[in-house]
Amino acid sequence: MSQFSSSSQRGRAYQCLKCYHRMDTVYIEAKYRVYNHFLKEHMSLDQAPYYCRLCFFRCFKREELEKNVHSFRRHALVLQEKNIPDSPEFLFSNPSPYLITDRDVTALPAEVCKRHWLSISKKPDILSQAIQSVLPDLSPVSNWPLSPFLQQSSPEQPSRLTPIQTFQPQPITYVNL
Ligand SMILES: [Zn+2]
Ligand SMILES: [Zn+2]
Repeated sequence: MSQFSSSSQRGRAYQCLKCYHRMDTVYIEAKYRVYNHFLKEHMSLDQAPYYCRLCFFRCFKREELEKNVHSFRRHALVLQEKNIPDSPEFLFSNPSPYLITDRDVTALPAEVCKRHWLSISKKPDILSQAIQSVLPDLSPVSNWPLSPFLQQSSPEQPSRLTPIQTFQPQPITYVNL
């Protein structure tokens, strides 16, 4: 019973062993994410427990399929492309799906989980954003930060600033909390 409870809302971390053994990459995430990753990356469509034959959306639960497939962008796009009405016929329950075992996905020891969550706690969640946008984003890169020096230069006083004044470095102070 240690400090683990402070980060326990993230829960136990799981690792994809297929990534680790086959590609020598480390994929550690919450359980549902690792399972979803395994389902999408390491299982073929006919191994998935539930899937849509139209857009290949795949998941572990019937309710999830029924609930999420209609908000899945590719599902709507394929319907539109083929000009056909939506139908429950597309939704398929696999009678003999592949079962993920602890040789595929493993739970990590509590101490490792704690270190992992701490190490990623400051990073933005890029992965989930990437999963959300299935289609390529064609919007131009427009969020470059404007240089504060460019914004400051007004036409009225172009040459009054001396280089020394402009780039006066601020002394760095370390505060002990
Ligand atoms: Zn993997
Ligand atoms: Zn679909």
